[in-house]
Amino acid sequence: MKQCPQCQQQYADNQNFCANDGSPLNKVEAISPAPASPQTAQATPQKPIVLYVILALLIGAIAAGGFMWFNQNSVSNAVAAKEKEMQTKVEQTQKAQEKKDAEKQTAGVVKKSSSAGTKGELALVNAPPSNVRESANGPVLCTLTKKASINTFGVAEVSYNKVEDMDVEWYYTDACGKMGVIAATQLTF
Ligand SMILES: [Zn+2]
Repeated sequence: MKQCPQCQQQYADNQNFCANDGSPLNKVEAISPAPASPQTAQATPQKPIVLYVILALLIGAIAAGGFMWFNQNSVSNAVAAKEKEMQTKVEQTQKAQEKKDAEKQTAGVVKKSSSAGTKGELALVNAPPSNVRESANGPVLCTLTKKASINTFGVAEVSYNKVEDMDVEWYYTDACGKMGVIAATQLTF
């Protein structure tokens, strides 16, 4: 196409002079609208919409995920708390049972021994005064005050009420004139 340098009027290529002022026309490049522009113009408003939709979906998904996670978390916390509570109860029951069993065992403990009446060895009362008792930790029959030898009749068959007491052995002795027991710690064989 052509254009007048004076009045800028545009003409077809087959014209040589301006119809307004008679100026020779210059050839100019036709400024055709870029074929991409309408597309670009169309695409431009579309893009953000798509982006916003994606963004909204993402935010929605994250929020939903967060809520579900939170929900899941509080549910599992509640479950864990319940389980712990039950575990504690079970442990308490077990402990109580174990304590009962231990008490039963301890109360009924009887040490095997040779029976009283079988004459055993002579033993020295090593640190008088020493008590001779009716039973282990029971009432005192008499107190031996002399570092002297006494008859023993074997390890006494005694019941223990406390586990600590089981460490102490008792021997039958007739040192008080009738049969009693004396702690082995008082004797040297
Ligand atoms: Zn002109």
